[in-house]
Amino acid sequence: MNIESKLPKVGTTIFTVMSQLASSHKAENLGQGFPDFDGPQALRDSLTKAMNGGFNQYAPASGLPALRSEIARKSRALYGAQVDADSEVTVTSGATEAIFAAIACVVRRGDEVIVLDPCYDCYEPAIELNGGVAVHVSLHAPAFSVDWQRVRDAITPRTRMLIVNTPHNPTGSVFDAADLETLADITRDTRILVLSDEVYEHIVFEGREHQSVLRNAELAARSFVISSFGKTYHCTGWKVGYCVAPRNLSAEFRKVHQYLTFCTFTPAQVALAEILAQQPEHYLQLPAFYQARREQFRQLLADTRFKLLPVAGAYFQLVDYSAISDKDDLSFCEWLVANAGVAAIPVSAFYETPPADMRLIRFCFAKSDDVLQAAAERLRQL
Ligand code: PMP
Ligand code: GLN
Repeated sequence: MNIESKLPKVGTTIFTVMSQLASSHKAENLGQGFPDFDGPQALRDSLTKAMNGGFNQYAPASGLPALRSEIARKSRALYGAQVDADSEVTVTSGATEAIFAAIACVVRRGDEVIVLDPCYDCYEPAIELNGGVAVHVSLHAPAFSVDWQRVRDAITPRTRMLIVNTPHNPTGSVFDAADLETLADITRDTRILVLSDEVYEHIVFEGREHQSVLRNAELAARSFVISSFGKTYHCTGWKVGYCVAPRNLSAEFRKVHQYLTFCTFTPAQVALAEILAQQPEHYLQLPAFYQARREQFRQLLADTRFKLLPVAGAYFQLVDYSAISDKDDLSFCEWLVANAGVAAIPVSAFYETPPADMRLIRFCFAKSDDVLQAAAERLRQL
């Protein structure tokens, strides 16, 4: 039977496509964003212990109390936010589920949601499935900062939500304190809710502080703040994330969450609660860990013909390849994986309408030394 697609523009994600190409060409995979190394041994031991110790049935739908209280504690310690673990924190099956639930619980037919291009791929399908319309506003290249005037100009009486992402995938740009203030100004006295995607909250460089919207009480009162343990503990396959939102927003969020998945994998919640309590140094040291990797990768690429853009956060390096090829970025990535044996992600995949002359691709540097070195060796030949 044929059905009319509810997502006619959607195909297989670029991350899956490039990972499949990487595997069929036996290429070094710097495309899809995931670490190719494991998280802390203690975390994996706790997970095994939890499974062998009887934590194998449904968790409470909103998340294990111990994990919710660690999330609230971390939000207080790092961002000064007064977060109530019982009513304002919900554990989800990855940030992706949280993003869907936050959009589904507020967006109605005809509502507009502003997204800032280039943006992560799961926002727009979630908006469309809920009858909303994504309104795309471009970040200001080459720094990929938010042009707040363009955001103001995009607001209409139908604007229901604004989605921000800092540190930013794919560009590695980050908010500064002024961005938060402007965001608060723009949304003051409106019905606009904020979805703040902060999955890379613990990966910010040069001693910067992550500008969580939780730092600003006025903003926090209208925001769904979403993060993911996948990025923080090198366990993207565990799919555990969370949403912090004020009580009234969390109550609506939980109505969707309880029917989307009901609850998240119990043993992982036990293990994450333990490591958050026992080893906060893991996430406190993550900036230094990834900054070293960023430096190593940039040095390895220094004598290639790629031009490296600055990276302030997250684990992605954008490079301009215009000295090597005048192909469009998708064709260049297809050529690169087949001919140079290195997979990357074309930045145009994150745009509704990519700038015509943009020649940028994204490499993920959350990869082991061997892989980064082997990839750089191949890229040096170009
Ligand atoms: N938002 C951004 C910006 C991401 O890069 C990702 C995944 N890499 C997600 C959300 C989804 O996170 P999760 O894997 O926890 O669903
Ligand atoms: N977020 C990852 C990236 O940007 C991909 C996750 C996925 O494949 N869904 O590469």
